[in-house]
Amino acid sequence: MSRTLPNIIITGTPGVGKTSHCELLAERTGLKHLSVNDVVKAKECHEGYDEEYQSWIVDEDKLLDAIEDEVKQGGCIIDWHACDLFPKSWIDLVVVLRVKSEVLYDRLTERKYPELKLQENLDSEIMEVLLQEARDSYDEEIVVELQSNDAEQMDENVDRIEAWLKQWKENNSSA
Ligand code: ADP
Repeated sequence: MSRTLPNIIITGTPGVGKTSHCELLAERTGLKHLSVNDVVKAKECHEGYDEEYQSWIVDEDKLLDAIEDEVKQGGCIIDWHACDLFPKSWIDLVVVLRVKSEVLYDRLTERKYPELKLQENLDSEIMEVLLQEARDSYDEEIVVELQSNDAEQMDENVDRIEAWLKQWKENNSSA
């Protein structure tokens, strides 16, 4: 299937900076920020709310149905803390954001995460769960690990992704 614009996943542990990166990238490139969290809520792609974790229990089949048409057109930046559910054929680049534990601790404390959820997310970041999931699910050459500890790194990351996009367009132009 040929797309005139690529699809990018920005993934990583909650608090790592996915939404911030997606918003900046969408602003600079004109690609569409597809917040899975917003879709899950708006289109009710869930099986209820988990009070302990304070998060929706996502119905992945419903979610994929809800975004399929849009993603297949290309030009989406998918913002979600999982990546293994999206078919390989939909995705051109997977960016896994990483952050130091102490920085993540501060961000999640600021968000007032319940203790259990905070601890599980810190463990997940330390154990590189999302990075491994990305490497297990996609070809290694499309998976990129980037640091997101401060604003300067975010700026550099967005510059890098913009440069990748420019190259992708050149490689995929039909001219
Ligand atoms: P996520 O979408 O991964 O949960 P957010 O983008 O919502 O993360 O970021 C969580 C918090 O951390 C926000 O307050 C955001 O401003 C801050 N943050 C995220 N990434 C960075 C960064 N690279 N530099 C500085 N602050 C950041």
